[in-house]
Amino acid sequence: MSDTRNILPPGLQAETLAVRAGIDRSHHGEHTEALFLTSSFVFPNAHEAAERFQGRSPGNIYSRFTNPTVTAFEERLAAMEGAEMCVATASGMAAILSMCLGMLKSGDHIVSSGSIFGSTVNLFAKWLTRYGIETSFVAGGDPAAWRAAMRPSTRLVYLETPSNPLTEVFDIAALATVAHDGGALLAVDNCFCTPALQKPLDLGADLIIHSATKYLDGQGRVLGGAVLGARALLQDTVYQFLRTAGPSMSAFNAWLVLKGLETLKVRVDAQSAGALQVARWLESHPAVERVWYPGLPSHPQHALAMRQQRLGGAIVSFEVKGGREAAWRVIDSTQVCSITANLGDTKTTITHPATTTHGRISAEERAAAGITEGLGLEAPEDLQDDLVRGLG
Ligand SMILES: *Cc1c(COP(=O)(O)O)cnc(C)c1O
Repeated sequence: MSDTRNILPPGLQAETLAVRAGIDRSHHGEHTEALFLTSSFVFPNAHEAAERFQGRSPGNIYSRFTNPTVTAFEERLAAMEGAEMCVATASGMAAILSMCLGMLKSGDHIVSSGSIFGSTVNLFAKWLTRYGIETSFVAGGDPAAWRAAMRPSTRLVYLETPSNPLTEVFDIAALATVAHDGGALLAVDNCFCTPALQKPLDLGADLIIHSATKYLDGQGRVLGGAVLGARALLQDTVYQFLRTAGPSMSAFNAWLVLKGLETLKVRVDAQSAGALQVARWLESHPAVERVWYPGLPSHPQHALAMRQQRLGGAIVSFEVKGGREAAWRVIDSTQVCSITANLGDTKTTITHPATTTHGRISAEERAAAGITEGLGLEAPEDLQDDLVRGLG
């Protein structure tokens, strides 16, 4: 800690924290956040080295578990989510893995939404089972169904809202009650909304997962992830697991995502506004069968979404008339959108989930005609023109 550290007054708003929280200036007095590319840190003497390793003296040791740039990212994201502690990880999947291996043991049980990221399904269903951690997947958001899936050994309840690709919205407060009644913790993957739109801890969740790869960086440059929650939940579990096992965030990635956080709200607000415009337009297009967007009154959980999140977000899913062939024609006719599986970028992305990201899990026929767009920052009118090329 240097004595030039910023001391912020209490009660600052999210936009202020996004650019001010987590700054710990070095003795050089740099204005912007410094990038500490160093694997280890020097100690003034052997005694201090021993004190730091024993945890009796603060200060950095080794970048697998202590790096000032990574710490700055962790403190800033924690401030934005209203969390006591944040553990940064190498990717979103590394965050989910670190949470599970840090907090669970053989014999423990997870109750998870079935509408979650494909790799998360795979991690729970294929990999964690090998270590004696079983997962029950629940379809839909009815709390009674979630309650029925709970077992005495359930330690973790897991969901994503809105979900990918059909933007299903889950009631965080209601499912937090189900988890807590069963003696379990609720973890929410807040990737799609980010703290700019939704604050899961305020709604009763215990843990937040982020893929920093998406909106937090927001410019499609690096992988990163985070687990957030109370210090008492994370310090001796997720943090100690990461310290030992090493799925850590690199200082360079932390520095990029830290700068990404500064513009998170303006980006997500603009991307949500563009998404609403494109979603409304798609809904009125004769070649479109159906649109899924939480910001549209036609969305089955529109009221819940508007209670729980500030705006509709930037993911729009739609089904075109004519099945998979028609869907592929729309995708292949675009000249502006990027055909890629990423989202949360400044560049709009377009995917056919049924044959790519969600090939394993979406058996429903309608998904064969489904297209998911992750709205970027282009002019919405240019995106509409781009879709018309294939929609006709
Ligand atoms: C991308 C994504 C992840 C995984 O994050 P990576 O950074 O790609 O490992 C997890 N959850 C959701 C909702 C995602 O979109």
